[in-house]
Amino acid sequence: SLTSKTAIVTGSTSGIGLAYARAFAKEGANVVINGFGKPEDIEKERAGIEAEFGVKAAYSPADLTKPGEIEGLIRLGEETFGSVDVLVNNAGVQYVSPIEDFPPEKWEQIIALNLSSAFYTMRYAIPGMKSRKWGRIINTASAHSLVASPFKSAYVSAKHGIAGLTKTAALELATHGITVNCISPGYVWTPLVEAQIPDTMKARGMTKEQVMNDVLLAAQPTKEFVTVAQVAALAVFLCSDAASQITGANIPMDGGWTAQ
Ligand code: NAD
Repeated sequence: SLTSKTAIVTGSTSGIGLAYARAFAKEGANVVINGFGKPEDIEKERAGIEAEFGVKAAYSPADLTKPGEIEGLIRLGEETFGSVDVLVNNAGVQYVSPIEDFPPEKWEQIIALNLSSAFYTMRYAIPGMKSRKWGRIINTASAHSLVASPFKSAYVSAKHGIAGLTKTAALELATHGITVNCISPGYVWTPLVEAQIPDTMKARGMTKEQVMNDVLLAAQPTKEFVTVAQVAALAVFLCSDAASQITGANIPMDGGWTAQ
């Protein structure tokens, strides 16, 4: 149980991040949610977490591509709830294009959000975790932290990067009661996957059905999407005492994709 602990989940107004936040709240943690969206939708999710699970939930609008906004996110958790015990770096975006046409500003955005933001959140959260001698840092990497696909240069680079950052942090924190791991999902059915279908149709000259069957699930031997609830359940396990010797690991949940 995570009662009396606080979890911060970046990019948790939708998709996998929202599922993590709800799963930690179900375990009794207070949660800080973050990300973009319509204010009324975000408030509905925030208030819904409090009502459904009997915990406290706060919202930070921090734009994680801006390092200057990241310290405030961590301080919000510490000041509102007294600690940050679980940090999940999950915010991420995708952009699909051949390298020679890849807009440099998209490259910079994806590296900043999908990789550098985790460096900054850790930098601010680790001192408190060390002082309490307990912490769990979980990064949402991807099957693309282990293997590549064409037209996703920034995403694959950032995800390989976060797998390396995860290992480094795990070694630095190994004797402090803090574990650092990444979860590497294959294709999970979320708005991010849905949103990249039009770009992939354009880049490859395919229909929607072809993109779904021949691109997205082509590499996933089970031919099924992962669910956000399955990813969240693994994160909850990584926070348990049973998982205290799992650190520096990159755990795939990809229907067999990276076994090939
Ligand atoms: P999603 O689009 O549903 O959610 C992304 C979240 O990040 C949203 O809450 C969004 O508001 C937030 N966000 C975007 N830009 C931000 C910024 N600048 N600052 C703060 N928050 C920002 O996507 P998802 O599929 O749930 O993806 C979550 C993570 O899982 C990402 O890191 C993604 O790379 C990873 N992932 C997803 C899949 C998949 O198939 N969906 C597979 C592997 C890995």
